[in-house]
This record gives sequence, C-alpha cells and structure tokens, in this order.
Amino acid sequence: MDAEEFRRQGHAVVDWIADYWSGLRDRPVTAQEPPGAIAARLPAAPPEQGENFEQILADLDTVVTPGLTHWQHPGFFGYFPANTSGPSVLGDLVSAGLGVQGMLWATGPACTEVETVMLDWLAQLLDLPARFRSTGPGGGVIQDSASSATLVATLAALHRAGGGDWRAQGVTRRYRVYTSTQGHSSIEKAARIAGLGDEGVRAVEVDELLALDPVALRTAITADQAAGVVPALVVATIGTTSTTAIDPLPAISQICREYGIWLHVDAAYAGAAAVCPELRHTHTGLEYADSYCFDPHKWLLTGFDCDAFWVADRAELVETLSVLPEYLRNAATESGAVLDYRDWQVPLGRRFRALKLWFVLRSYGVEGLRAHIRSGVELAAWFADQVRADERFELVAPHPFSLVCFRLRAGDESSAALLARLNATGRIYLTHTRVAGRYTLRLAVGSPLTRKEDVFDAWRLVSELADVADQADSD
Ligand code: PLP
Repeated sequence: MDAEEFRRQGHAVVDWIADYWSGLRDRPVTAQEPPGAIAARLPAAPPEQGENFEQILADLDTVVTPGLTHWQHPGFFGYFPANTSGPSVLGDLVSAGLGVQGMLWATGPACTEVETVMLDWLAQLLDLPARFRSTGPGGGVIQDSASSATLVATLAALHRAGGGDWRAQGVTRRYRVYTSTQGHSSIEKAARIAGLGDEGVRAVEVDELLALDPVALRTAITADQAAGVVPALVVATIGTTSTTAIDPLPAISQICREYGIWLHVDAAYAGAAAVCPELRHTHTGLEYADSYCFDPHKWLLTGFDCDAFWVADRAELVETLSVLPEYLRNAATESGAVLDYRDWQVPLGRRFRALKLWFVLRSYGVEGLRAHIRSGVELAAWFADQVRADERFELVAPHPFSLVCFRLRAGDESSAALLARLNATGRIYLTHTRVAGRYTLRLAVGSPLTRKEDVFDAWRLVSELADVADQADSD
C-alpha cells in the first residue's frame, strides 16, 4: 500500500469508525451469535494473493461487528467502562503511523519526554501528592494495565523488603502481600508471578462498607512477623471492583510507615474521579503511598491500553527492574540525564501511548474531562434514587462514583432472573457480583455516548422486568 492508497483507505476507515459510533444505538449491546459462529465465517487459511482493501473493510460488517459486545454503546453498563473517544483513536493512529519503539530515551526521545510530561499533567489534574511528579525523586509511566502496575509494584516491594537482595537472590524468605477480601484478582496473580505461591496474599477482612479494616491489617502483619513471614506490600484500593468501596488510606499508610511496608494504591477505575475537586476526598491519605495507579482507559476517554502508574522513588523501581545488556548501552543512558522507561516495566519494548493521552487532554481540556466524570456520577445517583424509592429493590452499597449495586428484595434467583431478562433485550447490558454471598446487579455508567435518556430507559426496563423476575424465588 503506497502513501496515496493509504490516504484513500485511511479516510474510508475513519468514515467506517464514525458510522459505527453513530449507528451504535440501533445495535443490540451484545453479540447474538453462538460460540464458533464468527470463526466459521473466516477462511481456514490466509489468502495466497493480497486482497483488495474495500473487501477487507466490508468484512468488518459481516464478520466482526455482529460478534461484538459493544463497549461504547450508550446502553453498556457492565463491568467498568472502557472508554474510547475520537481524540484517543486519532492519537493512537498517529502512534501506529510513527511506529516508534520507545524502550530507551535514545530510541525515541519525544516518546519518552511527552510521556513524562503527560504523567506530570495527569498528576496535576488529579492533584496527586507532589512526590509522584518527575520534578522530584518520583515520576509516572504508562503501563498497559493496572494489573501490570500491580506486578511492577509487587516486584519493587519485594526488592525493598529483601533489603535489596531480592534482585540477586530471588525469593529466599516467606514474603506476604496484604489486600482486602475485595482486592482485585491481579494482586493474587502478581504475587504468584513473583513466586510467592499459594500463601503469598493475605485477604484482610473488611468493614460493613466493604473497606479494608485497618485493625485486622495490623493484626495480620504482627501475626505474620511473629511467625517469621516478611510483610512486603499492602495494596489498598480506591474503588473496589465489586462495589467501589474505598479503603481507609490514612490508617493504612500509618501502618505501612510503622512497619516499613510498600503501599501501592490501586484506583484503576475510580482514580479518574479525582479530576473533579469535589471527588478528591476519596484520595485522602495518598501522600504516603509508595505507588499509585489508575486507568485512563476505563473512565477517562482514553482507549485501551493506558494505565497511569506513579512511584514516589523512581530509583528504587529502576534498581529493581534494570538489566542492561551491551546492545542497549548508549551515551544518553550513561549520562544519567534521561529516563529509560524499559526499566519501569516488564517488557523491553513500548509504543508511543502518550500520544493518545496528549490528544485527549488537549481536546477535552480539564473542564471537558470533569464534565464527563460528573455526568456519570450524576446519572448513577439518579438511578440509585429510583432504586431507593422502589420497595421491590434495595441498594447494596454506597455509590461514591458511577457504579450502582442493587438487588431485588425477593432474593438471589429473582435478581439473577432480572439480569438475564435485561441483557436478553439487547437494549442494555449489566453485569453482576456477589456481596456478602448475595447476588447483586451492577450498573456502571460511563460510556461517552450514554445520555440521561439512556439511564432513564435503563431504569424503565429494570422496573418493568422486575415484576416478571420477582416470581423466580417464589416459584
Ligand atoms: N484493579 C481494579 C480495582 C479493577 O477494578 C480492575 C479492573 O476492573 C483492575 C485492577 C484490572 O485492570 P486492568 O484491566 O487495567 O489490568
């Protein structure tokens, strides 16, 4: 494909995406295809000769879109949102076109420096503690996901807990990671990857709001120490996956300081809320964390993948992860004047993800981003009010952000039946969790296309179908 043909087909692709977005409302939110149907539409082998591009594009409509869960659909209320937006897609397109591999400062100076400044911008935007800014000993980096951020934090924490010998010796003692029973599964995965095995993570009890109980944390730490186990890391969460509970950072960070334990704060979804000053109280106590992350790719209009991860002391992180073979040596690295982000992550290679953040931050501006978050929070609050006012339902947890957890008072079977009926309509999509063992529906507002009318419609549907589902527990 030469440059002129690329220009022509590139316009067609952008048109296709714009049409896809504007037609989303008319599609069912989830795929209506049985397993295997999509694969069956693909030939068994790649074509011998190159095909014409129009045909490739046309096949998106026949092969791909009928088999999708449409995460950008205005009726998508499942999991947490996975936002994208025009500026994000275009920033990613430029990144793909540049094809830069920014493993070292020297392999793409702008790739590194734009990223450093974007992470400093984001730190300002969220009003994060000054220690995370690159102008001091800390700094931020883009990871592919919050899971990777947790893994990297786990490795750095082990390095610290081992007095600097983990790097050379590996896991020679029994180390422990602490999180609440509501902590994300990536914490357990990171501990397993790090070699801590079945006993690596201790799930600390929570209070009635499903937030980590600091008294139970202290008890677990002292019991472990007495048994010869080394406490290495506490992962606190702002906005747990199940119900968006907020762990009490001031008390947790006090304990971490007392025992010299690395504190990582996982705000994968809810971190975006801190762009709004009125929601920053959810981050109180962050000033003593060793690391913090959130996913602009969830609720901040930036396409997957983009996790923003900060450390208070970048030297500790680099010391943990740096491996420098001869073929990567260069004068800039040796001068000590540059950041080499390969030392801040697991893979060596990295693409220019900061471009999409740059495009998003500049296109929306601080006020545009705040408007997006506020709309989600307000619509969720409206939905929660309807639930509260309807005696067939109960709210299961507070809704500090844009997730509402609710269920039918009639019981688990009725609630599960309601979810199945709602999703079968194809008009909206919700997911579920269990809270204290009981089946709970989750409605997460946050798709950029979701408007007031969509949340009103969602409530109308929930309300109408509840009566039918209500029978399930009594049948
Ligand atoms: N942490 C929390 C609190 C989450 O809710 C999630 C995903 O929903 C993750 C981590 C994992 O995010 P990622 O897909 O970026 O690894």
